[in-house]
Amino acid sequence: MTAQIIDGKALAETLRQTFKARVEALTARGQRPGLVVILVGEDPASQVYVRNKVNGCLAIGMHSEKIVYPADIAPRVVLDKIAELNADPQVHGILVQLPLPAQFDEQEILEAISPEKDVDGFHAENVGALLQGQPHFIPCTPYGVMKMLEAAGIDLTGKEAVVIGRSNIVGKPMAALLINAGATVTVCHSKTRNLAEHVRRADLVVAAVGRAKFVTPDMLKPGAVVIDVGINRLPDGSLCGDVDFAACQSVAGQITPVPGGVGPMTITMLLANTIEAAERKAGLR
Ligand code: NDP
Repeated sequence: MTAQIIDGKALAETLRQTFKARVEALTARGQRPGLVVILVGEDPASQVYVRNKVNGCLAIGMHSEKIVYPADIAPRVVLDKIAELNADPQVHGILVQLPLPAQFDEQEILEAISPEKDVDGFHAENVGALLQGQPHFIPCTPYGVMKMLEAAGIDLTGKEAVVIGRSNIVGKPMAALLINAGATVTVCHSKTRNLAEHVRRADLVVAAVGRAKFVTPDMLKPGAVVIDVGINRLPDGSLCGDVDFAACQSVAGQITPVPGGVGPMTITMLLANTIEAAERKAGLR
């Protein structure tokens, strides 16, 4: 068996094309969707992510800007800026790129963003709404995974799903979304005993571990759907997921590649969340 590839890059492109008309309609009503991204410090990976987010917005006609602070900035300055952006009617989405330098209390910063503009979906109010099955903003990476599963025609009702990783950004919201979709969900992490045994039961595996080639073919049930969230850099400079893609391809039923899988969908869903925020403001939702 050779697994069918779930192509996140192609789906992201298709979705972004559909967003253009929504952006145009909003712009015509004087509500051009606007995203502000705040970056503190000069972490090279964060700089790339922020650039891609801003360019992704601009490419579909949205407004976007980045605000960059030096790594030693006082948290008060960032909190004051967030308060100003919360009150700015041209700004529909506010995102603070994580991680933040040590002098910051990340939670304090995330809670300072108005829940109405929290397009990352990390504010406690939005996390609570997701857990209650009434999401307002869904965190972008798991949201992208759900869209990929939907586009691939995968019915999650009654399926055994295993999520590897329990971060607030990926693992936990992923598990909540899968529960809401009717799957039976197991969440594995670094303290899990017999992890491979859990994974072998799964009809769907979502790997968000941060370890290259962590998921190997012997851990998979034949025909399983395998979603690889991981982005790891190998010593030769190439990118690699958390799944041993080449080896797992012959056991999985469907599988996402890295690059070209979940990665492009994450920014796409950030655009979706910002457009949704603008549509709510315009009374279109
Ligand atoms: P975190 O480091 O926050 O979380 C990793 C999780 O994996 C933790 O829950 C940890 O367990 C678990 N884990 C680590 N080692 C093991 C192990 N040996 N066995 C079992 N579980 C383990 O990472 P993120 O959730 O932020 O990201 C995960 C991966 O996804 C990374 O590669 C990241 O780069 C990528 N990513 C990709 C995105 C995309 O757009 N494609 C977006 C966001 C992230 P514990 O909690 O016990 O420590």
